[in-house]
Amino acid sequence: MTEQEDHSCIVCGHEEERGIFIFRSFVCHRCEQEIIKTDASEDRYHFFIRQMRRIWLKQNA
Ligand SMILES: [Zn+2]
Repeated sequence: MTEQEDHSCIVCGHEEERGIFIFRSFVCHRCEQEIIKTDASEDRYHFFIRQMRRIWLKQNA
């Protein structure tokens, strides 16, 4: 079951074994829980998009 996927979390930047892939981007289990914990599902979505955008901007800088 070992795959050569990048398990660096796009939200916190840590490498974790457990997590999920969204749009080919890895989100660790902890951050997934953080995102899920936020009250409104819309807020959750926007939070996530904001985090992703931040990472992308950093990568393109
Ligand atoms: Zn994380």
